[in-house]
Amino acid sequence: MGIDVGEQSELSDGRLGETERSSDHVRFMRRAIELGRRGSTAGDGGPFGAVIVRSGHIIGEGWNRVIATRDPTTHGEMVAIRDACRRIGSISLHGCELYTSGQPCPMCLGAIYWARIERVFYGFSIQDAAGIGFDDHFIHEQLAKPPGQRAIPEIPLLRAEALEILEAYAANPGRVHY
Ligand SMILES: [Zn+2]
Repeated sequence: MGIDVGEQSELSDGRLGETERSSDHVRFMRRAIELGRRGSTAGDGGPFGAVIVRSGHIIGEGWNRVIATRDPTTHGEMVAIRDACRRIGSISLHGCELYTSGQPCPMCLGAIYWARIERVFYGFSIQDAAGIGFDDHFIHEQLAKPPGQRAIPEIPLLRAEALEILEAYAANPGRVHY
């Protein structure tokens, strides 16, 4: 029970398990949207808020702080991931879900995979954000191209010297696997 019928249509895409309460998903998404609203109203950055949930409880929160921190990596999802990892004392968010007001950009998507987050819910789409000038869509287009055809060149240099530290790390039996 506990189904919020008013929001059912937005969640009826078949990705929710039958035992899940859509009202919880709606509550967490509304929190993400509220954080995005507050942050952007305060001038911290764009209208992007995010929360990370484990076992029905919020364990991390964040909103876009790119302007406030002069740091282009402080997207809402990144801030929320850092908050959650610090709070639980782990580099893994396995078993967690992320709710974000806007579909993650490639940077945040990478962080989401690194953190082992299991599922992502988003409000507006990358195309929606591109409509007001956020260039996430452009980055997705770049990633879809072969490296040699992208706007920012990636140029191999000093591979042999760099490989030395890679091999030394691989040979260390005490290294942390992640
Ligand atoms: Zn992002």
